[in-house]
Amino acid sequence: MFKSSIIEISESAINQNIAFVKSILLEGVKLSCVVKGNAYGHGVAEYVPLAEKAGVDHFSVFSADEAYEVKNVCRPGTDIMIMGYTDDQALSWCIEQGIEFYVFDFDRLIKVAEVAESLNKKAKIHIEIETGFNRTGFNMTEFSDVLKFIKNHASSISFEGLCTHYAGAESIANYVRVQSQLKKFIQARRKAEKAGVTPRRYHTASSAATITYPKTQMDMVRIGILQFGFWPTPETHVQYINKHGEPRQPLQRILTWKSTVMSTKNIKAGEFIGYGTSYLAITDKVIATVPVGYAHGFPRSLSNMGRVLIHGKRVGVIGTVNMNIMTIDVTALEGVKPGDEVVIIGHQGELDISVASFSELSAQVNYETLTRLPANIQRKIVE
Ligand SMILES: *Cc1c(COP(=O)(O)O)cnc(C)c1O
Repeated sequence: MFKSSIIEISESAINQNIAFVKSILLEGVKLSCVVKGNAYGHGVAEYVPLAEKAGVDHFSVFSADEAYEVKNVCRPGTDIMIMGYTDDQALSWCIEQGIEFYVFDFDRLIKVAEVAESLNKKAKIHIEIETGFNRTGFNMTEFSDVLKFIKNHASSISFEGLCTHYAGAESIANYVRVQSQLKKFIQARRKAEKAGVTPRRYHTASSAATITYPKTQMDMVRIGILQFGFWPTPETHVQYINKHGEPRQPLQRILTWKSTVMSTKNIKAGEFIGYGTSYLAITDKVIATVPVGYAHGFPRSLSNMGRVLIHGKRVGVIGTVNMNIMTIDVTALEGVKPGDEVVIIGHQGELDISVASFSELSAQVNYETLTRLPANIQRKIVE
């Protein structure tokens, strides 16, 4: 359909990243691909089937609405796990559809057993245990009662997992805290084993923990950012290189974001360009407008600062980024015309604008930049 910009999704990059992720897993560890936030901005509808083709059959999301989106596009046998919010209205749908979901308080646990019983179907639950992240999770003091409850409701509850989440495995600054969390988790695990109420899987690791603390991989890992071709932080990349001495970049960015020139214009020296006075043309300028603005996810904070690629060259954004338009400086280029390709993230010719450089300029982390890409920009799968 009609579009002002497009996001291309590379199938070969997905295959490469998933093969890499599998290569760093210990023997027998299950891979769950985290596709919350519209698959980190890549588009659930496009991403999930491609990941399945690459051999993934377990996806994790934040909430029931996201699980619904995945369910609509995935294969019938694929497993889906909700790691966060399951609203009351979604509970029976989840149980009926066999969607796995986290439970982190007792009232919810009781409710789950009731609903499952009334549906005559087992609820597939993961018990999240508090180990020090201090967000959600059962406290250790409640854990014995939780185990007892699960044991007494074995006909309505299937204990799929015991899990926790680390408070920043991507930075060595959190080393002590992460180690203490791991220790607490292992205590909970022993408790479950001692009580004879054991889950199908123990899982704690995200991308960073999977690389930095392989012991945390246990039975399953929940991999988000890596599959999309990014290290959680540069530090995690260094950790990987230290362990594997790998000079080659094993990950590849999947997405490219591009638009086209909308129009061009000559501006005389001494004129202001765009709203207000933020940009003064000191010499004669040629500008091009691009139909992408902050409504499309190009941050306004990149006013007079952002860079894009055109004709294989890097040029700057001038003036303020508007809701639907940005203006770029093409004075140094010959013959720029409407319809010429403009790359916002990705490569053109020899040059590349990485998400990281884009994020640094706009003071966002990769995660934020990616998930802010609006869902309504068309995604196109390329080789
Ligand atoms: C987002 C998330 C992950 C994945 O994190 P990455 O750093 O992207 O790998 C794993 N577990 C939970 C609970 C999460 O919320």
